[in-house]
Amino acid sequence: MTSDIRVRFCPSPTGNPHVGMIRTALFNWAYARHTGGTFVFRIEDTDSARDSQESYQALLDSMRWLGMTWDEGPEVGGPFGPYRQSERTAIYRDVVSKLESSGYTYPCFCTTEELDARREIAMQEKRPPGYDGHCRNLTIEEQEKFRAEGREAVIRFRMPGTDFTWNDLIRGEVTFKAEHVPDFVLVRANGEPLYTLVNPVDDALMRISHVLRGEDLLSSTPRQLALFQALQHIGVAQFTPEYGHLPYVMGEGNKKLSKRDPESSLAMYRDQGYLPEALLNYLALLGWSMGNDVEFFSPTQMAEAFTLERVNPNPARFDLKKCTAINGDWIRFISPTLLAELIVPFLVRAGLISEVPTEREFEVLNQAVPLIQERLDTLSSAPELLAFLFTDSISPDRSLWTDESRSVLERSIEILKPLQDWSTDAIHTALRVALVEELQLKPKLAFGSVRAAITGQKISPPLFESMEILGQDSCLERLRRSVESLQGS
Ligand code: GLU
Ligand code: ZN
Repeated sequence: MTSDIRVRFCPSPTGNPHVGMIRTALFNWAYARHTGGTFVFRIEDTDSARDSQESYQALLDSMRWLGMTWDEGPEVGGPFGPYRQSERTAIYRDVVSKLESSGYTYPCFCTTEELDARREIAMQEKRPPGYDGHCRNLTIEEQEKFRAEGREAVIRFRMPGTDFTWNDLIRGEVTFKAEHVPDFVLVRANGEPLYTLVNPVDDALMRISHVLRGEDLLSSTPRQLALFQALQHIGVAQFTPEYGHLPYVMGEGNKKLSKRDPESSLAMYRDQGYLPEALLNYLALLGWSMGNDVEFFSPTQMAEAFTLERVNPNPARFDLKKCTAINGDWIRFISPTLLAELIVPFLVRAGLISEVPTEREFEVLNQAVPLIQERLDTLSSAPELLAFLFTDSISPDRSLWTDESRSVLERSIEILKPLQDWSTDAIHTALRVALVEELQLKPKLAFGSVRAAITGQKISPPLFESMEILGQDSCLERLRRSVESLQGS
């Protein structure tokens, strides 16, 4: 199915990608995929002081990691490129001059100090504090006079003075009164075009049919609607897109989730070992629901089911615990083989296995993964659980030993040394007979000492399975070393 629906994700490459922007990307992506439309990826890098190449790379890299493929955009191209606004300067200049010659803009010579002073007075007089239209009707002579004084002009858009109402795809009817949307700046005095200009101009030129974005941008919509009227009039736009504003995402303490909150950072999720599918699954729930209480789904399933009717205009609450729980569900859902592959980089990073894992390392990992799959919530917790399988230097904390430990370990060595069948069941039976039945110890006490000697920990993956994986020699060696350390103390 293909359709004329064209949506866009158009972040500015400043700072690190954050979950708020990813949620926006996801809803646009899902809408495009659901409708057979086109998902456009545009980079809004017109603010040379704040944009960076690293951030640009991080955006592309993040989108690829998340599996949100774009149909048009950087490195992919498309019929309406270039898709980096920094490469579109000539286009904007041309549009501005068309707007100028049709009387939609005017130069404004007011200085910041003058604007501030007049805003102050407006507020005292209980008038709207926005731009007061001071330079709207300057004569050519007055403009020349300002220029002669050495003043530089920004270019302002002349608002039509009417109220603006639109039928928001998510919030229903929204109205802004004319007095709350004053004439606004399109181009800085130094010639740099602003978001207010380039965003709608590109939406027009790229034939964007639906603008889906965060609620924080609601107040820019009346200005964009006005600009679109002008763009249509001068032949730059063919139509005005529909607008839908996604709900706020709230963080701790009923405050909006901020880019600075650590749980905002996309890099954190990658670092901690969240699966991209799991993160998208969770982000989908921030304002959208699949219905029937279904909360576990893949991005593809989300796209299949995605409609704007199911987007809730009310603020959504970000809950890291829930996100982590969903990640755990995903970890349990994927195959052990895939999980093992995903864990490799985390073991490498922890220095437990080689960059290119040996066959033996792979074998151990593949055997061990089913033992931890049930209890893993993030991939980054795997190294701690698995460390004892990849290193022989186990040093159990003294607190793990009991009065019986030494005799338990000595007896374990005796019984395990001659064991022919080194299997989970055989190990378990041998130790149970020797320690629980013969020595009459409580299983927890008896096996606790063995666990300490083998894994160095109080809590570990299942003990007998782990011993099978480690092999007889390694286990006996660990038991012996613990006995020695107990003799020494
Ligand atoms: N570059 C803008 C931002 O990142 C895009 C906003 C929009 O979707 O219109 O906030
Ligand atoms: Zn002015």
